[in-house]
Formats: sequence, structure tokens, C-alpha cells
Amino acid sequence: MRAVKHRGRRTGSVLLALAVAAVVGIGVGVVEQPFYPDAAGAASTVTAGQPVAFGTAGNYGSVVGAKLTEPIVGMAATPSGSGYWLVAADGGIFAFGDARFAGSTGAQRLNQPIVGMAATPSGSGYWLVAADGGIFAFGDAPFLGSIGGQSLTDPIGAIVATPDGRGLWLLPVPPPPPAGGPAVGGLIISNLAELPGNIYPRGTKVAALTFDDGPSPVYTPQILQVLTQYHVPATFQVVGQEAAATPGLLVQEKADGMTLTNHTWDHTDLTKLGPSGWPGEVDRTSNLITAITGQPVKCLRPPYGATNGSVVSQLAQRGLGELMWDVDPSDYLRPGTSVIVQRVLSALHPGAIIGMHDGGGDRSQTVAALPAIISGIQAAGYTLVPVCN
Ligand code: ZN
Repeated sequence: MRAVKHRGRRTGSVLLALAVAAVVGIGVGVVEQPFYPDAAGAASTVTAGQPVAFGTAGNYGSVVGAKLTEPIVGMAATPSGSGYWLVAADGGIFAFGDARFAGSTGAQRLNQPIVGMAATPSGSGYWLVAADGGIFAFGDAPFLGSIGGQSLTDPIGAIVATPDGRGLWLLPVPPPPPAGGPAVGGLIISNLAELPGNIYPRGTKVAALTFDDGPSPVYTPQILQVLTQYHVPATFQVVGQEAAATPGLLVQEKADGMTLTNHTWDHTDLTKLGPSGWPGEVDRTSNLITAITGQPVKCLRPPYGATNGSVVSQLAQRGLGELMWDVDPSDYLRPGTSVIVQRVLSALHPGAIIGMHDGGGDRSQTVAALPAIISGIQAAGYTLVPVCN
């Protein structure tokens, strides 16, 4: 994004002002407010934790490349403007330029994540605020009150200090969507528009990345690294015996915010499995995933996509959804990195469930293709979402 400002022009026409406001996405009646035309168009390439500077604001550093356990959620500038702090969701503080570290909640156990920060006028202190309105004061920041511990109808999303540092505002924001998706037991899902509750109405520009046949000690960590770098969720179809061999990878997948589903114990063709085989192939795998991650398993993807009425019925009895896909780049055939990228992006459509592989063989092409796949999907205006979460 270029750091060039464009200024809206005041006009005498209310209708035109409304139209301008609608097109550029600014508040109605605030025609004089600066706006950035590219903000409403295709996604610009920005990186989480890397400040984007305008005007005289300098770039004093970022957390890009650092291994963070929590995402960066806020920042505040020093009084000189020659530095800033970044704050992570656990209250960890990163100081750049002339910003000085005055303490953090990085080591504390918080009930709610930190969502913002504000600096004192001296620059020798700051406040952090959690989503429940809890305030944490550091350095010369005075404690002025808090609504932490109360039950709030909407979470707090921002904190702003008065210039004298003796007052604070907290801003409630809309609550985030629920962490868990809808119940999907007994359903067959090959497109996100098929999820119950109409959470992604047909035509919504969402897509899901799904990875089968892992965990792989070689490729799963590489895929997780790309996904976390882009802050993108994905859904992993786990082979039970691989998970039993490398349970730490499931812990990592869960810690990275991924959704895990069942892909049978040893990648069996369920259409050839009698009912007596299901506990050992399917229940055993779900139980293992839940035992390692503490998360219920809501879906199974049948190996080879092999399914029939009997498979669907067995899944329904277990309250499992059948997770299929509708974009298939055949990455497991290793057609070449650029071919994998091209196949995914050319087949991208609203609600797409993209089937790829993190295990079961050499997945280096899949790993190499992933950054361009994610960038291309986002550049097309799509949001990547989990499924069966
Ligand atoms: Zn498979």
C-alpha cells in the first residue's frame, strides 16, 4: 500500500455524499475524512505484526519473523513519535525505537485476551485492556478504574487515553463469531454453503483449506508454519496411527488454532469395512484426537472419498458429518508447485472446500505452493475459514 492520502471533497449534495460514503466505506456525514481508495478494493499485501506507516510515522521495527504464541492485537506510540509498542493477545509487550518496556501481562494467566493499549503522555507507562474491560497499568500509568470481572454484553475492543493521561475510554465492539461451528452430525458437506444455520449463505466469499493423511513429522510443521504466518485456519484430517506415533503434532495443530477431523485409523476404505470394524477404525481415532487435544471430533473424511449409504449411516449414528471437498488440485500426485497453485486458484469459488495433503508421502510441493495459494485466495477477496470446528 502506498502511503499517499486522498481527500474526499465536500459537496453540497447529500445524496452524492451518501454515495461517496457508501463507495469508500466511510461514515455517512464525514465526507471530509481522509480515505484510501485501495482499502475498498482487492486486499493489499500486509503482514500481521508489521505496522503500516503513513505521513511522518516511521517504521521502527516489527515482530515479523519472531515466533509468537499469540497474535499482535494492538499498538501505541511514544510521545516523540520515534517509537512504539506492540502488544500480543496475552499482553506480551514488544518495544521499538524509543519505546521503553515498563511491564507486561505476558506471564500472567488472563481470563480474557488483551485487545488494546494506550500510552501515558510521558511515554514512561501504558495501560493494557482485556476483552472483559480489565485494565492493567504499567510504569507511570495510574489505575483509573476497570470493568474487569463483570459480565459484559459486548466485549471491549479498544482503549484510548486523554492527552493528560488522567482519563481513559474503553470502546465495546461487536462480539467475535462463536468459536465452534454448527453441529454437522449426519450431514454431507462438500461446500461451505451446505453448513447448517446458513452461516455462509451461497455466494459468500469464503473457502476452507483442508489437509489429509497427516500428521507428518516432516511436512505438518512446515504447513503449520505457513498457516500461522498468514494467520489462516485450516482443517486437518488425521490418520489415527500417525497421530498415535506423533501426538505432539496434534498438540501443535490445536495450539495453532487448527481444526482436526477423523480420517480413520489406518486410511481404510470405509465402503469395504463392516460395522464391526468401525469402532477400531473410526471411534478409536476420534477418541485419540479428543484425548490429545480436548476437542470433540465433528467430522470424518472418508479415505479416497470412498463412501456409500452405509458409510453415511454409520457416520450419522456417531454424530459425525462427512467432510468432502469440491476443489481437488491432486497435490498428492506431485504435479509441480505452480500447477498446484494454478489448479486451486482457477477452481476457487464461493464456499470452496479445498482438498490437499500434509501427510502420506512427499508433500514438499504442497508446502511450497501454500503461500501463493493463500495469497491468491485472499487477493481474490476470500476469507479462509475452518470447517467442522
Ligand atoms: Zn487420505
